[in-house]
Amino acid sequence: MKTMTILVIEDDKAIQNLIRTALELNDYKSIIAGSGEASLQSLLSYNPDVLLLDLGLPDMDGVNLIQKIRSWSNIPILVISARQEDQDKISALDAGADDYLTKPFSVDEMLARIRVIIRRVSLDHQQVDQKARLYENGKMLIDYAAGCAYIDQQEIHLTPNEYKLLCVLAKNSGKVLTHNYLCNAIWGNGYDVTSLRVFMTTLRKKIEKADPDHHYIQTHIGVGYRMVQVS
Ligand code: CA
Repeated sequence: MKTMTILVIEDDKAIQNLIRTALELNDYKSIIAGSGEASLQSLLSYNPDVLLLDLGLPDMDGVNLIQKIRSWSNIPILVISARQEDQDKISALDAGADDYLTKPFSVDEMLARIRVIIRRVSLDHQQVDQKARLYENGKMLIDYAAGCAYIDQQEIHLTPNEYKLLCVLAKNSGKVLTHNYLCNAIWGNGYDVTSLRVFMTTLRKKIEKADPDHHYIQTHIGVGYRMVQVS
């Protein structure tokens, strides 16, 4: 298997060392950038597979950096934030980050998140051929062409909004989607978290009734939701 290169953008030396050691012990190649400017250079020179980004950088706002990178690159971005405020995570996710860790985090947690990101990216590549006509996850199957969702080969009867919500989550499987993102995807514009919660509740009930053993949709309190790959 190809060695994955991870670009770590972090200005704190102690955390840099901690992350570098953990990555190297787990057979990743790591490149460290101590500033936003340095990270843009490294991104071009090394073409890394994953970005680990601390939001609090000395020379640049982390969210601005994500916006800049997203204008030309789809590289998976895992955000690390010292700040507890949900708003920073939400802004980073809305700017195109894939996932987040809040400091202090455990190295095991960080490695687990990196594995999820890498797995998702490789799944995306496999699905390119079929143009993702079908989505499969555990007992769940979505047939996008037919506009139907199934659990254990039994169709689950969803309202149009529930079905849209399920599809948006499935198409971004593994990614945390913010309330704002989901509302936009479902209603075009407007931000109605209350309605979103209602649809999420009824959608989940229908899924859980058909498959009580798996939790397909994770809640990130105050942030949003994520479809997780179940085994
Ligand atoms: Ca920092």
